[in-house]
Amino acid sequence: MAHKILVTGGTGYIGSHTTVELINAGYEVVIIDNLSNSNVKVLDGIEKITGVRPAFVEGDCTDLATLDRLFKEHPGIDGIINFAASKAVGESVQRPLLYYRNNLVTLINLLEEMPANGVKGIVFSSSCTVYGEPDVNPIDETAPIKEATSPYGNTKQISEEIIRDFVASGAPVKSILLRYFNPVGAHPSAEIGELPNGVPNNLVPYLTQTAAGIRKELTIFGDDYNTPDGTCIRDFIDVTDLAKAHVIAMKRMLDGEDTRAVEVFNLGTGNGLSVLQLINAFEHATGVKVPHKIGARREGDIEKIWADPKKANEVLGWKAEMDIEDTMRNAWRWQCKLGK
Ligand code: NAD
Ligand code: UDP
Repeated sequence: MAHKILVTGGTGYIGSHTTVELINAGYEVVIIDNLSNSNVKVLDGIEKITGVRPAFVEGDCTDLATLDRLFKEHPGIDGIINFAASKAVGESVQRPLLYYRNNLVTLINLLEEMPANGVKGIVFSSSCTVYGEPDVNPIDETAPIKEATSPYGNTKQISEEIIRDFVASGAPVKSILLRYFNPVGAHPSAEIGELPNGVPNNLVPYLTQTAAGIRKELTIFGDDYNTPDGTCIRDFIDVTDLAKAHVIAMKRMLDGEDTRAVEVFNLGTGNGLSVLQLINAFEHATGVKVPHKIGARREGDIEKIWADPKKANEVLGWKAEMDIEDTMRNAWRWQCKLGK
């Protein structure tokens, strides 16, 4: 029988792409999302791509009673992928308690529900922000965790610790912590993609909105960094590549035999690309110019970080495959579908 997976935050950006890959791989998916940062219409997109409409519970994971009901109404859930979280770094500085409550209570509630409901494993969305400014690049999973630079980043560090402590206490659950680098792009069908609320903070949605004429120009936050062209360097990973890693991680936890109880993997391409190089890749891939100017550095930005994904490559047998120009074309197709 197909494994049943609970995807929290499943109508969100990464959650929706992962739901598509889970369904394509034969899993049954139940989504819970409070729609605080996504739209229920995402379910239509998932159905168009896969031919399957996943079960959907509109609800908040910080509410234990809601989760109790969900597990009663959807018995037999084998695994959880926990995407549900608040993720705006700047907002987390302004409203730290909201971030600690939402991100940590969600995780604690889910962990609490797992043993009682026979849920065997949880995949957790962590982030390369746990590494802070790396001493060396590419960075692997053995690198030290640096002091968090925002409450958001701190919720990821604390969440990793909560999971480790819970598993170490003898709870009958496994976990895989996935540290994402910079997820970008959209499904090639343009049926699902990123839906930023208001003015985007992230580079790619800002870039595509500028290319579409919604924003006048993109500001590059600093060109005086210690990098070849002076702009920051990131590891931009295609969202579908990222989504596929979750399916592999889930399979490993549920069907693997000798896996350790808690494992951690970097999910990146292994290639660092500067902000300017990314803009060039977009322009080259789409033929559309992106008006841009150089501005001041953004406070808290890391100068350069890219992944050593060898562990995920070798242990999970997963590798990022998408070419950055294809990813940029998908991002543009999605922006065009959203409108100008
Ligand atoms: P997103 O905002 O698109 O998706 C998160 C979803 O969770 C949204 O649909 C939101 O409505 C929902 N949600 C939030 N709190 C909830 C709650 N209490 N109960 C139920 N639903 C809730 O974000 P995303 O980019 O898809 O990120 C998914 C996960 O990956 C997050 O945990 C994020 O911190 C992590 N992550 C994202 C990035 C990135 O750059 N996008 C990088 C590293 C890690
Ligand atoms: N960036 C930029 N202009 C923007 C948004 C982002 O120059 O309008 C830069 C930012 O300074 C960083 C990179 O793009 O160097 C990636 O930023 P993003 O917010 O997308 O992700 P982060 O790596 O900060 O999580």
